[in-house]
Amino acid sequence: MSNVPELLRVGTGFALSAVDPAGTPGLPEKKTVRKDPKTWAREQLVDLGAQLATQQEMLFATAKADPKDKRRLLLVLQAMDCGGKDGTVKKVAGTMNPQGLHIVGFGPPTATELRHDFLWRIHRALPKPGLVGVFNRSHYEDVLVVRVRKLAPKRVWLSRYPQINDFEQELADAGVTLVKVMLHISFEEQQRRLLERLRDPTKFWKYSPADVDNRAYWPAYQEAYHDALAHCSTDLAPWYVVPADRKWYRDWAVAHLMLHAFKGMNLQYPPANFDPQRERQRIEEGVSQT
Ligand code: ADP
Repeated sequence: MSNVPELLRVGTGFALSAVDPAGTPGLPEKKTVRKDPKTWAREQLVDLGAQLATQQEMLFATAKADPKDKRRLLLVLQAMDCGGKDGTVKKVAGTMNPQGLHIVGFGPPTATELRHDFLWRIHRALPKPGLVGVFNRSHYEDVLVVRVRKLAPKRVWLSRYPQINDFEQELADAGVTLVKVMLHISFEEQQRRLLERLRDPTKFWKYSPADVDNRAYWPAYQEAYHDALAHCSTDLAPWYVVPADRKWYRDWAVAHLMLHAFKGMNLQYPPANFDPQRERQRIEEGVSQT
């Protein structure tokens, strides 16, 4: 297993500003793989994807065989606009069986959601046992956009860090393995991606003029991200920062992180709750039709 999780994990002394969004931590040297790193990483993703699909199937099968087994995996994706959350869902989560996935995006809260605690809608969106959940944005928006755009007073969003840690502890106790990933892009890469969207009419739907307004808040967002990750990276629910300027590295790294989390769950295919030999005989001998 690679050391990617270790390299990307938010630990003591973490500084978001020290992470190079164009970096490729853990990627082998070009001379080792003897080909262009992008081609290599894309090829590796195929293999990683097959392993993810197997792990997911074992998780699904385990829950089906034993209703008392509440285990599930939840990938939380956070990023600045154009950070690649949708691409990651497509390329990494897309390697698994859609039947076993539970993908939820979080936008501005509705009037109903605002009448509840900020974690209310998150609770409701959790994957059921046996499923792999993907959160495209999450409860972390409540200490990110809410802080930066001053949607709540400081004492409110400050109090949310410990609430989030308690909540994630509860999730861990309830069988949820969390993989929290910030896709980290640079200001320049965001500009490139926004311009690309405007050059291509098939990408207009992805563009929002509000994304440009948000660029003015870039430093405030970086600070909010730093604080959220520093306060809420725990042993049970660590944060990982994935350099995401290079999409091929991003996908390769996120696949590694998910696989690492799956392996920590020690999943296996459940044994048969019937006698396979006897069942084979019954089928071969044929059953009389009525
Ligand atoms: P995305 O940008 O993820 O592709 P949208 O274009 O629908 O999806 O954007 C979702 C928007 O909802 C983002 O601007 C995000 O900051 C905002 N949002 C998410 N959660 C909250 C929240 N709790 N409070 C306010 N805004 C939120």
